[in-house]
Amino acid sequence: MSATTSLSARKIAGVRLPSQSPSSLWDLTLAHGKIESLHPHADPKSDGSRGHDVLDAHECLLAPSLCHAHIHLDKCFLLQDPKFSDLQIVDGDFKEAMSLTTQAKQRFEEDDLMRRGRRLIEESVAYGVTAMRAFVEVDGDVGMKCLDAGLKLKEEFKARCHVQICAFAQLPLFSGSDDGETVRESMLQAAERDGVDVLGSTPYVEQDNSKMDKNIDWIIQTALKYKKMLDLHLDYHLDESMPPFVWKVLITLKTHEWQKNGGHQITFGHCTRLTYFTPNEWERLKMEMVDLPIAFVGLPTSDLFMMRTPENYRGTMNVPRIIQDHGFEAAIAVNNIGNAFTPQGNCDPLAIASLGVGVYQAGTKKDAEVLYECVSSRAREAIGLPATSLSLKVGEPADFVIFEKGVPAWRGRKAITEVVYDPPPGRTTIYRGSVLSK
Ligand SMILES: [Zn+2]
Repeated sequence: MSATTSLSARKIAGVRLPSQSPSSLWDLTLAHGKIESLHPHADPKSDGSRGHDVLDAHECLLAPSLCHAHIHLDKCFLLQDPKFSDLQIVDGDFKEAMSLTTQAKQRFEEDDLMRRGRRLIEESVAYGVTAMRAFVEVDGDVGMKCLDAGLKLKEEFKARCHVQICAFAQLPLFSGSDDGETVRESMLQAAERDGVDVLGSTPYVEQDNSKMDKNIDWIIQTALKYKKMLDLHLDYHLDESMPPFVWKVLITLKTHEWQKNGGHQITFGHCTRLTYFTPNEWERLKMEMVDLPIAFVGLPTSDLFMMRTPENYRGTMNVPRIIQDHGFEAAIAVNNIGNAFTPQGNCDPLAIASLGVGVYQAGTKKDAEVLYECVSSRAREAIGLPATSLSLKVGEPADFVIFEKGVPAWRGRKAITEVVYDPPPGRTTIYRGSVLSK
């Protein structure tokens, strides 16, 4: 499964494209890691285009590559790695997940961080991922260990996957034995490091509302000062009686004049509380956000496993609906692999899109295409990367996934709907025009 060799392609011949008739075949030429041209497929015997730098796609479907808009690199595979085999799930709730992860973090060392993180990226690339926002925790327990490993992996994989690093305060910035001072100092050290793209925090772990306010104010000011993108785990509960915190965040962004001061992309993760929003509240939210570069990222596998009301109802933000009904920028993501926050699932973002068909009751052709975009082009935009699209325009990044190899032609997926309904295993990943072998 390791992706260690690559071939730089000048042309990909004989593909089906998501925005064209499934019965038509196309050739793409690539230059400087971008799409140079698209033409109806020409017989290689007649146009002399055979060569070591021509990839014959054998009539398979080519689509924009996949993207993890939100994935925790440092706490992946804790349930599988023998080093942490004593830390298994007994209660299956949020409190236990925090406790198990805290115990595991006390044992984190470079060798297991690199081993687990490398495996996550390798498996993701094999599924067609060429970009990800990787969260690494920074605090008094782990110091800079998770960040150091994340930055090393970012460098190690730079020819195969764009790894964005989010230095992340999972622990409070203003509560606890030293009122969060150690975590804040660690976050400031992280913000100074080359290669850190994003700063993130979790206001809901603070002791009370005033400390949540301070958390937001501090992380916003720090992201502005260090010119980083901002990513918040926000409104992660299903208690309708608790006012949504998102309003306070928007006021604080405006108070600090985010746009005028050169603020970058902002992303809000989870936001399960917003499932109670009425259409009017969504409209009000849209209006309040109009001048701010904000995207939402829904994390349905974690939400459904972890979040429930006292009556045992589940809830996760209906991402396809807020995109299609209200025009928000949004994506969906895997979040966790193999830990107590989300024990189920794998490194395939398409599995989340497929789950979304049932979870969001989103089964039309248009829904399936939006779900695909939510783990592909929309996921990239949510984390501030250059756009790709299902229409594969000239000049877009030559980052693709080809579905699928090793199946009879009649069974091969020919449209995005088929890929979302039933994600196929056999994929070829192409990053900046390089064909990554598996
Ligand atoms: Zn997360």
